[in-house]
Amino acid sequence: MDKYKIETLGDNHISTSVQTPLRPDAFEKSDKEKIKNIQSYFSKIMEELGLDLTDDSLSGTPYRFAKMYVEELFYGLDPKNKPKISVFDNKYGYDKMLVEQNITINSSCEHHFLPITGKAHIGYIPKNKVVGLSKINRLVDYYAHRPQVQERLSLQILRDLQNTLETDDVIVVISAEHLCVSSRGIKDSNSFTTTIEYGGRFENERIKSDFLKLIGS
Ligand SMILES: [Zn+2]
Repeated sequence: MDKYKIETLGDNHISTSVQTPLRPDAFEKSDKEKIKNIQSYFSKIMEELGLDLTDDSLSGTPYRFAKMYVEELFYGLDPKNKPKISVFDNKYGYDKMLVEQNITINSSCEHHFLPITGKAHIGYIPKNKVVGLSKINRLVDYYAHRPQVQERLSLQILRDLQNTLETDDVIVVISAEHLCVSSRGIKDSNSFTTTIEYGGRFENERIKSDFLKLIGS
């Protein structure tokens, strides 16, 4: 891709698929090997920027950076880290909307590797299965901790919950600030981006607007 196309694609934040584009050999190396390699690549980047890595304050940065990438910011790339979501039978027959709101989003934009921070609001109408509430937060956290595009993040959460809960009646709203928009490029620190993805009974205007009223938007 030429440099003009690279910049246009990145600034428009267009994603190419619902699945995170991963290489077939993505998990052949251990986390330890990845940390070791990224540490060495990142020290080259720092050197190229002219930084003196013999300085006590900087010497540990490549290791901290590598560990943070593999074990924290991008832990959600590896399916082995996916939280176990146990579902329970909907024994009490609750069949109205259940809303979990203000779930923290800490993610990273895949075009600039800068933070995306905001909130997710999720609703579902149980059929035969229900989940523990905190499991929804864990699932959001898992998908957020990948290089992401906000639309894809919404879809990945929606599809996973639809599978787990065995119902299409799920809605996901995310409002987030993108540091690549607020701190570089257009440098608009007031704007934020909202995405909404839903299926099943949330296609019904009344049910959708009940949900939007509940989350106060
Ligand atoms: Zn970006």
